[in-house]
Amino acid sequence: MRKEFAVIGLGRFGGSICRALAEEGLEVMAIDRNEDRVNEFSMIATHAVVGDTTDESVVKSLGIRNFDHVIVAIGDNIQASILTTLILKELGVNKITVKAQNDYHEKVLRKIGADHVVHPERDMGKRIAHSIVSNNVLDYLELSDEHSIVEIVANEKLAGYSLIDLDIRAKYGINIVAIKRKNEIIVSPKAHERIQVNDILIVIGADVDINRFEKKVM
Ligand code: ADP
Repeated sequence: MRKEFAVIGLGRFGGSICRALAEEGLEVMAIDRNEDRVNEFSMIATHAVVGDTTDESVVKSLGIRNFDHVIVAIGDNIQASILTTLILKELGVNKITVKAQNDYHEKVLRKIGADHVVHPERDMGKRIAHSIVSNNVLDYLELSDEHSIVEIVANEKLAGYSLIDLDIRAKYGINIVAIKRKNEIIVSPKAHERIQVNDILIVIGADVDINRFEKKVM
């Protein structure tokens, strides 16, 4: 069975989700109350529809229950975002992802049953801050308040050593889950794998431990 998606709100965020899903060849319905925005997506999405999703009868008429996953990407209008989510939930939509504007918005969305709340500006801000603070950190993904996955570029201090030489797991309590080397990716590298300059180490662990490792070797 093919998955069907609906994206409500075609601003920068919703618009790029819609484009990416369509590029993957997936069925996606694009919805916005602004006709110009909808026209922009008429050639991109499978269907593009004008509608105000705070109106339950509009949402019902779209047959929204039949979609596997609905993404609510209504920007600044928090009230409309909450009301839309509530209507989707009441109509029994299987999976709802909502973009939150701030922490209060996020809290309400979780309370009313949004399955997944995203905070793109805040999360992207954190990721960029991490890579600015440390020159060797390329990317960062927060797993919980205390755990992350981080991409660290290996420098001369690490080059030539194998994972067993470095004994990273015992010394720092973190794990190298993969190494990116030019076009190659070594998943679950073996203990004897030797690190080369400019290898990208994908490290998972507690933030405090990852920080200790970064400071020690960089
Ligand atoms: P972004 O920060 O992602 O660019 P915007 O605020 O520019 O977000 O875009 C949000 C979109 O959501 C706008 O295109 C707006 O027309 C649409 N939108 C806002 N309220 C509703 C609503 N009640 N029903 C449908 N679409 C809505």
